[in-house]
Amino acid sequence: MIAPVTTIADTKGLLGTLPSLRLDVPDYIYTATDNARCSKSEIFVKEGDHVYMGQLIGMRDGGFFKQPIHSSVSGIVDGFEEHYHRSGKKVKFVRVKNDHKDEWDPSLKPRSDEEIAKLSRADFSKILEDCAMVGLGGSSFPTYVKFNNDKKIEVILINAIECEPYITADVRLMEEELEKTIEGMKYLMIAFDCKKVLICVKKKHKSLIKMYQEFLRRDENKGISVCPVGNFYPQGWEIAMIKSALGIDIPSGHLPSEFGIANFNVSTVWGIYEAVKYNRPVVERFISVTGDGIRYPSNFRVRIGTPLKVLLDKCGGYADPEKDKVFILGGPMMGASLPSDDCIITKTVTSVLVFNHVAAEEGPCIRCGSCVYSCPTHLEPKQIMDAVKAFDKERIKALNPLRCIECGLCTYVCTSHIRVTDYIRRAKMFAKTK
Ligand code: SF4
Ligand code: SF4
Repeated sequence: MIAPVTTIADTKGLLGTLPSLRLDVPDYIYTATDNARCSKSEIFVKEGDHVYMGQLIGMRDGGFFKQPIHSSVSGIVDGFEEHYHRSGKKVKFVRVKNDHKDEWDPSLKPRSDEEIAKLSRADFSKILEDCAMVGLGGSSFPTYVKFNNDKKIEVILINAIECEPYITADVRLMEEELEKTIEGMKYLMIAFDCKKVLICVKKKHKSLIKMYQEFLRRDENKGISVCPVGNFYPQGWEIAMIKSALGIDIPSGHLPSEFGIANFNVSTVWGIYEAVKYNRPVVERFISVTGDGIRYPSNFRVRIGTPLKVLLDKCGGYADPEKDKVFILGGPMMGASLPSDDCIITKTVTSVLVFNHVAAEEGPCIRCGSCVYSCPTHLEPKQIMDAVKAFDKERIKALNPLRCIECGLCTYVCTSHIRVTDYIRRAKMFAKTK
């Protein structure tokens, strides 16, 4: 039995080194009908229907794209109910009574290596669209869109930086699924007819880097190498990663593909492997559950659709149960807060943080400039905040808040505990209106 966490610092050092816990799949699994990107959906199954694991059970509509909905277990559709989604909103979920057989949809056929070698970029796009592959690093951006161009790609960057504090799920994935992640990278080399892949990982993960470097020495892994990068936040932001790995500055408003670069999160690469090799949608993922509000922070390998409460129980429940809790889905800097633990783990939930609530009163701005010095996109958060308070739309637009990546640093550094990032989010909404 591991010792209970006594400080936040303990959680950082402990988690990445322990193997992930593989849970029994719960008796009931929940699949979201809508999500943050898709407000409409059509569900093809009704109560009492049998479903296979990986079966198409509905379609979400995101306006400019559709997103297939798959069941992550085999069993019987048991009803519909509302729970919190990672977006922080309550949405409807399909409830499936798990038959614990894990029977895959028989229509999903694997591909041989010879078939995969002949796939075009357009074929990859179609496979990933059908498998509803999205950015599993938390972006939830539809992955197939990255394949819908004919740009010459010179280098593929794999984002394994996981730069937000506390989260170590990608480290566990890389250690436990080394061969599949490398195979997924080879598929990307086929898709983009590209000879070079760089795996960007923080320098501090020395044993992980050594493990990958040794494996990559084999002839069949030619063209793939590890690129250690700095241990700071927001190093995982794609623009910062490209600058560190390649020395290229991507100007605001331009895409990495215009510079011959494609980039993918390492969890997404694992999902791409399953989709291309087996035609299977993502049905499980690695996730960190941590923070000083739970007893035993842990990394899990978990079935998509598992209720968060199941994971919290496996973490030994709440530490200091008498104290109010703060729930964050995603990292502490960019994650979304949740009003309760009544939440379902969907495929883009990288982590759940549970903190004991600490009251911090907002003070007046003392014009210290910390938010301005810290902003990685060279914005002036304090001025934007003032413009929002004054409802000065022209000034807001002139300060260009749409460049903000919502990294949360301006809030983190604010000596007066002002939630500066919330003002910038509001400024972005103003800037998008006429
Ligand atoms: S959240 Fe704040 S620090 Fe981060 S990019 Fe936006 S304005 Fe800059
Ligand atoms: S960090 Fe906070 S106190 Fe300092 S200038 Fe920015 S908003 Fe004001």
